Amino acid sequence: MNEHETESLSAAMTELEDQYLWDADSSYAAATRIEEQARLLGDERLATRARLTQANMLMRKGDVAGAAKRIWAIHRWAAAHDDRVLQARTHLVWANIHRHLGDPAQCLEHSVLAVELLDDAATPYMHVWHRAKLADALGLAGSMEPARERYAQAEQLATDLGQIRLLFGVLNNHAYTEFACGDKKLAQQVADKLQKTAAAHGIELDPAGLDTMGAIEIENGNYLAAEELLQEAVRRHQIGGYEDADALAEYMLTLARAQRHRQATDRAQESLDASRQLCEERGLGDVLVRVHQEQAELHAARGEFAEAFAVHKMFFAAHYALHSSQREAQARTRQAMFETTEARREAERFREQARRDPLTGLRNRRYLDERLPELIGAGDLTVAIADLDHFKRINDELSHDVGDQVLVEAARLFESEIAAVAPDGFVARMGGEEFLIALPGLDPLTAVAHLEALRRTVAGHDWRELACGLPVTISIGVADLRDDPTGTQPALLAAADRNLYVAKHAGRDRVIADVPYRDAA
Ligand code: GH3
Ligand code: MG
Ligand code: MG
Repeated sequence: MNEHETESLSAAMTELEDQYLWDADSSYAAATRIEEQARLLGDERLATRARLTQANMLMRKGDVAGAAKRIWAIHRWAAAHDDRVLQARTHLVWANIHRHLGDPAQCLEHSVLAVELLDDAATPYMHVWHRAKLADALGLAGSMEPARERYAQAEQLATDLGQIRLLFGVLNNHAYTEFACGDKKLAQQVADKLQKTAAAHGIELDPAGLDTMGAIEIENGNYLAAEELLQEAVRRHQIGGYEDADALAEYMLTLARAQRHRQATDRAQESLDASRQLCEERGLGDVLVRVHQEQAELHAARGEFAEAFAVHKMFFAAHYALHSSQREAQARTRQAMFETTEARREAERFREQARRDPLTGLRNRRYLDERLPELIGAGDLTVAIADLDHFKRINDELSHDVGDQVLVEAARLFESEIAAVAPDGFVARMGGEEFLIALPGLDPLTAVAHLEALRRTVAGHDWRELACGLPVTISIGVADLRDDPTGTQPALLAAADRNLYVAKHAGRDRVIADVPYRDAA
């Protein structure tokens, strides 16, 4: 059964999407298999989700540019199909891409959208992790207070949901951000909490956690402890399951700092070279700038002041290059954003057009079939069917073209009258010279009085020029949901149609309803 297959495939996809730890190669392969199967099943959404995970894994493996290239088409699809969950996920990957490129402003912008788009359809993982990543982005952009607020929310959510792995992630990122932003005391407090939580759950810290602890130990002057923590981080990273584009480059850099402080300058140089090589291979501009900074420190520690000075110049060159590549990345992203907005507008225009009658511009049957059930669900509703009287005569005695113009003019009168009395209601052309009017939120007598006013407006309109003296009038049959609260759409329309029939037989140009009403005229 196709449906069953799609469901289990989708569940497998969610598992890939929501994994906190991953092996990039095998996740990429799994996502590729899912994409193929989704295509065979004709499930475009699932195939697109699989492609997003592929892009994400490309980024994790260090191909940041390759990931960025793929993400646009995915995002356009998600926006055009109004798929909030997929859009939220896409923005998160996008935020990470910008973080790697060293662009905090864009990182923040996408992180905000990744949270704003969360709704009931989002998974618990998304609710926790997207908030934590927003906090990271806020911290990166230098807004620590709002960052702390988001970390607290994410921590609470992860605890409530029993997502222990994610709780570690939140605490680790929080500690790291506090550290990077210069609040060493708070960083230490959060790191202690992280360690306690890990111990309480009998789980060992992941490499990112060890890196944070190591950086804090350097700050505290415990260089031996720091070097050991970082060596352990590198070891666990190499075992696998913890890949991230900049992870190893970061660990090697922290390790180099610990080693420099221990006066182990040769080891420090080796670690730093390893970090630099990763930065160059992967285009990690942000880490590379800090590598140059560390290199200058290392030269100075060895008394090589000329070299230190030369590296300082490289640092400024790298810093400059980073900012110009940020500008390029910003331009590309703006372009993509623009295309996305355009695609969404296109889709909206198309959607809107498909729900309008081309001749009169009124809503059509399709709109009616979508909207009426909503109004019926809400309760207080009057519906009416209005039909032009002896319309055939206009066609026959004047022309079909004049008939068309009369329809357009009548539609204009309907629309403006109804918009004035029931802004939540609508008029739709059901076909031919028959129109449906929906009046929600009015008491039955008021609704009928408005319909009567509409009838008079049409009859009193100056049709001389258009209809050359032939009268243009309408008959209206009314039905009220409150007369038959169990009423279905067909029952309601049939009741209105019956009253229309009565109106026609009683001589036309009149309103017939089940409720008695007083003609205001
Ligand atoms: P009654 O008062 O009983 O409603 O009489 P009638 O002549 O209005 O009703 P009937 O259903 O016999 O004729 C409706 C006519 O409307 C027939 C059809 O040719 C015409 N019509 C339907 N759609 C259009 C349209 O889009 N343009 C024009 N010009 N005429 C249309
Ligand atoms: Mg008619
Ligand atoms: Mg008719």
